[in-house]
Amino acid sequence: MPDDGALFGLDALPGAAPARDEPERPRATGPLFRDSEAARRLLPVRTIYTEPAAAASPRGRQVLARHPGARVVEVDSHWRIPGLHGDEGNVGRWVRVKGETLVLGERKTLTARPNGRSADWIAPGASNGCAMACVYCYVPRRKGYANPVTVFTNIERIIAHLGRHIARQGPKAEPNQCDDQAWVYDVGENGDCSVDALICDNTADLVHAFRQWPTAKASFATKFVNPDLLALEPRGRTRVRFSVMPGEDSRLLDVRTSPVAERVAAAADFLDAGYEVHFNLSPVVLRPGWRQAWAELLRQLDDVLPDRVKRQAAAEVIMLTHNRELHEVNLGWHPRAEDVLWQPGVQQGKRSENGALNVRYDHLVKGRALDDLRGLVATHAPWLRIRYAF
Ligand code: SF4
Repeated sequence: MPDDGALFGLDALPGAAPARDEPERPRATGPLFRDSEAARRLLPVRTIYTEPAAAASPRGRQVLARHPGARVVEVDSHWRIPGLHGDEGNVGRWVRVKGETLVLGERKTLTARPNGRSADWIAPGASNGCAMACVYCYVPRRKGYANPVTVFTNIERIIAHLGRHIARQGPKAEPNQCDDQAWVYDVGENGDCSVDALICDNTADLVHAFRQWPTAKASFATKFVNPDLLALEPRGRTRVRFSVMPGEDSRLLDVRTSPVAERVAAAADFLDAGYEVHFNLSPVVLRPGWRQAWAELLRQLDDVLPDRVKRQAAAEVIMLTHNRELHEVNLGWHPRAEDVLWQPGVQQGKRSENGALNVRYDHLVKGRALDDLRGLVATHAPWLRIRYAF
């Protein structure tokens, strides 16, 4: 067992050879943010549902030991938890469930899916669900009426799978908009890795694994500033994408997240700690005054960010998509947000394979809005390269 709290030694990782033979530097030894009162207020865990094997695993034991007062309920599967998923009564407790409940399970499906937009590959995630409560979040669409964090405790299998996948790709032959040199793996598609780091060392293990792989880079979007991540020494092999939107939209829509100004202010610290720092301009929500609000945000980025952040920054632009089922759930706990998100006059619906009705801005409306946003970036933050917009 290494002394940094990770589950296994880095030399046990399969796949590509280490980038360079650097001695391990000592990790920060000060108190961790995740042990602070502020972190406990965000995650005052009372109930932990767990598969038996997950509870018995080293990662599961780590999580259980951090919450000795929690009620532990054994479940057959992390996907089917009576009284949690699919329980309409939980809509009114949407936010409380997210903070007071954790689920421990083992990830059964280990596949890296090709993506090509935000990342080259979507990695099998080490969690699913989130303790924050952004109203537009697509993660709960598959999880019924509650969406607390499920921690996958078999992190060593996830990392071993990634190592083999990365080794099979070989070096990246040609630059693309994901990255010039590295294969980019999104490790946080179904949650927020900064929040996961409040719960256990899964995020630390992923960051440490990627610094050993010279042909690959981890990437995750976040809306939460977790200072514990600054001690992980990613050595340039992890890209943090701070998601930003105008403050007034964020205050309405990004429930429980760090304020946008805090995310922007943290960018330089993350760069100095060894992360690549990008931005997600997302989601772009169209409402009266949206252009002025985004112009103001872009001016704020221009004012606050030091040149060293600007020189390496790039952005993804993502227009809001929404979903009828989520709209109905949101009406049960945060109807004011739906006044902004649900705009049938400018949105068009598309039935997905599982029968759900997804909505997005009408393509003419969306095309015009993207042109406008590109123009705003060119005017107010011309250093910000847009990697892709959709
Ligand atoms: S931070 Fe991300 S994963 Fe969490 S609720 Fe918000 S959008 Fe969803």
